[in-house]
Amino acid sequence: MIGSISQPSHRAPKVGVVMGVANQHSIATGIAKVLSGQGADLAFSYLPDTTGKMLTRVKKALTGIPSKLIAPCDVGDDESIAQFFSEVHKTYGTIDFLVHSIAFASIDDLRKSTIETSRSGFLKAMEISVYSFLACTHKASQLMSSGGSVITLTYYGGEKVVPGYNVMGVAKSALDSAVRYASYELGSKGIRVNGLSSGAIKTLASSAVGASKMIKHVSDITPLPQPLNQQNVGEVAAFLISDAASSITGEILHVDGGYHVMGYYSKS
Ligand code: NAD
Repeated sequence: MIGSISQPSHRAPKVGVVMGVANQHSIATGIAKVLSGQGADLAFSYLPDTTGKMLTRVKKALTGIPSKLIAPCDVGDDESIAQFFSEVHKTYGTIDFLVHSIAFASIDDLRKSTIETSRSGFLKAMEISVYSFLACTHKASQLMSSGGSVITLTYYGGEKVVPGYNVMGVAKSALDSAVRYASYELGSKGIRVNGLSSGAIKTLASSAVGASKMIKHVSDITPLPQPLNQQNVGEVAAFLISDAASSITGEILHVDGGYHVMGYYSKS
């Protein structure tokens, strides 16, 4: 006999931080739209610039999404990270989740073969795309008083070779590993840590790694033929953050129409 199955509590995400909105095409913007639509109260960080243009772009991208805090945070700077999370603490006290949707590698390095990556370019890519995840997860976890959820955005190019992804593939491999270690270390505090591996979507960052070509190639191959968009990723992010995913941690969840299951493909 099958025992009674209790109804899962699909508690919507509550208060959280979203890092990585640059414009309306950013994956973080798509995630924010879905989370806000589900009633979450969101704080945002953005990469500061000297002209103030970034803040204008970010505010435009976030039109219609209410927020008590949109503050600068350069994740390449410890002081900036500390200052941002202190603002979050002052505004909200505690938080329930963190969305880390940040990566960087210089175009010069991405245009080179992986083995030609410069030392400084390698360190920069790892610092912004991987170390920042650890540092921000640490700060965010200190504001999570009754469990929580952290997600970061990763890509299949960290698991398999995707020509052109180069040094960023090496960084994503390290990011996937960082997800596993952080999930182990934060599990006892009830904090879950997961990676969301998005298929290729046209954004500022993905243009630098030849997204258009990848999107065309992928659409010929994926089991699910419809193109992926920011909202698709946002919905899975909201699921991973919600209590419906309360037993999932240390996972790299592919949101790619099934592209990652394919080995060989021949057009028939
Ligand atoms: P995006 O350019 O919109 O986002 C990248 C973000 O990183 C920007 O907001 C940028 O300001 C931020 N950033 C870079 N350096 C920073 C720094 N020093 N301090 C603070 N912020 C900094 O592009 P996106 O495609 O939305 O990328 C978001 C994440 O999704 C990245 O981790 C990316 O690797 C990942 N991802 C993207 C795709 C895709 O096809 N677009 C696929 C899989 C994973």
